[in-house]
Amino acid sequence: MMLQLPHVARAGRFKTLVAPLVAGSLSTSAKLRNAPPNFFTRDLSTTSWRPRLKMAEPTSPRAVRKYLQQSHDRIFENNKKWAEEMKKKKPEFFTDLSAGQAPDYLWIGCSDSRIPAEAITGLDPGEMFIHRNIANLVNNIDLNVMSVVNYAVRHLRVKHIVVCGHYGCGGVKAAMTPKDMGLLNPWLRNIRDVYRLHQDELDTLEGEAKYDRLVELNVHEQCRNVIKTAAVQQCWAENEFPVVHGWVFGFKDGLLKDLKFDHEGQLAEIQKIYDLTKDF
Ligand SMILES: [Zn+2]
Repeated sequence: MMLQLPHVARAGRFKTLVAPLVAGSLSTSAKLRNAPPNFFTRDLSTTSWRPRLKMAEPTSPRAVRKYLQQSHDRIFENNKKWAEEMKKKKPEFFTDLSAGQAPDYLWIGCSDSRIPAEAITGLDPGEMFIHRNIANLVNNIDLNVMSVVNYAVRHLRVKHIVVCGHYGCGGVKAAMTPKDMGLLNPWLRNIRDVYRLHQDELDTLEGEAKYDRLVELNVHEQCRNVIKTAAVQQCWAENEFPVVHGWVFGFKDGLLKDLKFDHEGQLAEIQKIYDLTKDF
């Protein structure tokens, strides 16, 4: 059954709906004509069994409405197929999922849509607790990431915490741009601070090499931020886990690079100042 999107069905709201798709002060039809060439024609499918979805010409409001409806409905079609497939492969799959979770890994990655954590690591649902934000940052006043780390360590008792960045990260690139980024300023400030900490090394590099290295150094600093938390320090003191890892994903070959973050060495270094193992 086709699901009807109320805001799509109401043609009167068409302009409100389409306007944010292409920024600028052009008329709606001009905005559609000037949309990036692959915006509507790109193939959203990633596997052969999924229905292919394409919209050839972004020329009419009707075509846009059709695209929006289809791109919504395909998710439910895919979901139904996935559920059937999983059940066929392993009849007790959903009974197991319902029983609870005991993941070994906490993944802190970038929100970038090209990095499906479970797919690139070959892990199944239930094996990885996941947190993602722009440029995989671990900021100690971000209640979101701090709650995730705390819950994963103290309650799920994860064995590994992975901070995974990626080459070509838009967040890191934005932080390298000397420009007012509005609301993003305080967030990107964290990456600019990483640059400042490693300025001597980074200033010797140019172009892509500098960009790639900042991606790696950002992962390194976020690993250090994970280690600065009381949850990680106290759990490690008692159990010798979780271990913190820094990885970088590459779009060009799909491979993860292990930055060989020295968990124990960094922990000892960090605890000279940030030792939170004792109760208050
Ligand atoms: Zn990114």
